[in-house]
Amino acid sequence: MEATLQFLGTGGSMGVPVIGCECPVCTSSVPQDKRLRTSALLTVNNRRILIDCGPDFRTQALRYKIDTLDGLILTHSHNDHVGGVDDLKVYCVRTKKAMPCLVSVETECELERRYHYLFRPNDVYQGMTTQFALTTLEDARGTVEFLGLKVRYFSYLQLGMMVNGLRFGKLAYVTDIKDYDESIFEDLKGVDTLVLSALRFSTSPMHLTIDEAVDFAKKVNAKHTWFVHCAHELEYNKVNAYLPENMRLAYDGLTIQCPVEMFHE
Ligand SMILES: [Zn+2]
Ligand SMILES: [Zn+2]
Repeated sequence: MEATLQFLGTGGSMGVPVIGCECPVCTSSVPQDKRLRTSALLTVNNRRILIDCGPDFRTQALRYKIDTLDGLILTHSHNDHVGGVDDLKVYCVRTKKAMPCLVSVETECELERRYHYLFRPNDVYQGMTTQFALTTLEDARGTVEFLGLKVRYFSYLQLGMMVNGLRFGKLAYVTDIKDYDESIFEDLKGVDTLVLSALRFSTSPMHLTIDEAVDFAKKVNAKHTWFVHCAHELEYNKVNAYLPENMRLAYDGLTIQCPVEMFHE
């Protein structure tokens, strides 16, 4: 089944422009040089699934008219990926239903620590006992059903934190990757569209550089690779001119299509 992926944000943890920065990218008038924190909306079979929910979520929801939301998948629990979770309560209040969430055990622990008030029985949110219907992933890799969709997941490390990569049929979403096992290329075999994080040109302890990400993407050999989680060192037009033809920086608002697998198929 055909799915649509919309990039709601393509920036690193500080976003672009960076507060107080006067660099050429932060002051650029090119719209693609403005980046909210990295997040995406996957729409399949009229269901809308949010992938990561950073501190810009409210802005993204208003800008891209995310008036309804059917589920949330979190890759890991760093603030730039979970800082907007509180803003999801509007959907729960309106539908009087908990929000289905797919998270790892580690992410669940962090969610309960940060957003304990969303888990506790309370009267504030119309008597709901919980805001989240959690599906937790206990293994480093596997396949799970989420809202009818077949989701394959595989983990890798970012400065010691376990992060989940996601695969929906021919589409893979791999953000915040730094240290990984070569077996990841088995997980990514046959992918047509790869979304991959790449922070900047200089080395980072937490992210692949552009050149490392290009090497990674060449091994995956997808038809199209889109880079996300980009810092203010990356000027949209310049970097795209540098990249191989089938690899591009994604930008906020970009929408792409790719076939995904439903669970019963
Ligand atoms: Zn800057
Ligand atoms: Zn991040």
